[in-house]
Amino acid sequence: MTGSAALYSDALESIVNVVTAVLAFIAIRVSSRPADRRHQFGHHKAEYFSAAVEGILIFAAAALILREAWDAFQHPHSLNQPVLGLIISAAATALNAGWAWFLITWGGRRRSPALVADGWHIVTDVVTSVGVIAGLIVAAATGWALLDPLMAAAVALNILWTGWRLMRSSLSSLMDEAVDGDMARRIRETILAHASGAIEAHDLRTRSAGPATFIEFHLVVPGSMTVAEAHAICDRLEAALAEVVTGAQVLIHVEPEGEARPSGALIL
Ligand code: ZN
Ligand code: ZN
Repeated sequence: MTGSAALYSDALESIVNVVTAVLAFIAIRVSSRPADRRHQFGHHKAEYFSAAVEGILIFAAAALILREAWDAFQHPHSLNQPVLGLIISAAATALNAGWAWFLITWGGRRRSPALVADGWHIVTDVVTSVGVIAGLIVAAATGWALLDPLMAAAVALNILWTGWRLMRSSLSSLMDEAVDGDMARRIRETILAHASGAIEAHDLRTRSAGPATFIEFHLVVPGSMTVAEAHAICDRLEAALAEVVTGAQVLIHVEPEGEARPSGALIL
């Protein structure tokens, strides 16, 4: 309607938002399915697929916008009906801002990377929309036609950056990334505090998959300890870890004291 490349770029991004929201919806439904015979550790990673696809769609949108901006750059023209275009854009931006806030708070509570990713994606959309609206007001007031394609290009670069960040974080989770340093420290402290009777713990490994955190380690106990006693320690550790880490799935390998490691172990 307005012939503005910047408003076009903003609209294109909103279309990507709708498509990715549908993808996120499907991904969340799949990932909340319980473990079954073919996926015995659960379906948590389905959400990372959705985040990765979202990243790819963002790259595609950026390419379309850059083409449109290049066109407008070569054939600069003044805008039609700038006031009506700005009013529609401002109303859509206000709706987007409320929606982003809802997605981020709700997704954070549910520990859902797909919802939070979608929310932050829309935050960048809101920021760029506000920039575009401000820029178009200046363009309409001054008649500087090149400002429109320049802003469209800036929108494209901005969403490219978002897409890159999304891809990187979802790919590192698909690659079985360990929990962050703070969480790792709390896990070690919990093991130290609840393993009385055991001698040491070693080979602690963690990986995150959506709302689930897999924790596994070796627990060295006196060789004369009965299986029942060792298992009681394991049950205690599992219960304690489940309280510290939401969605913890703990696996403990018990071994007699001859297996103790001289270094890198938690001495209990
Ligand atoms: Zn071991
Ligand atoms: Zn057990």
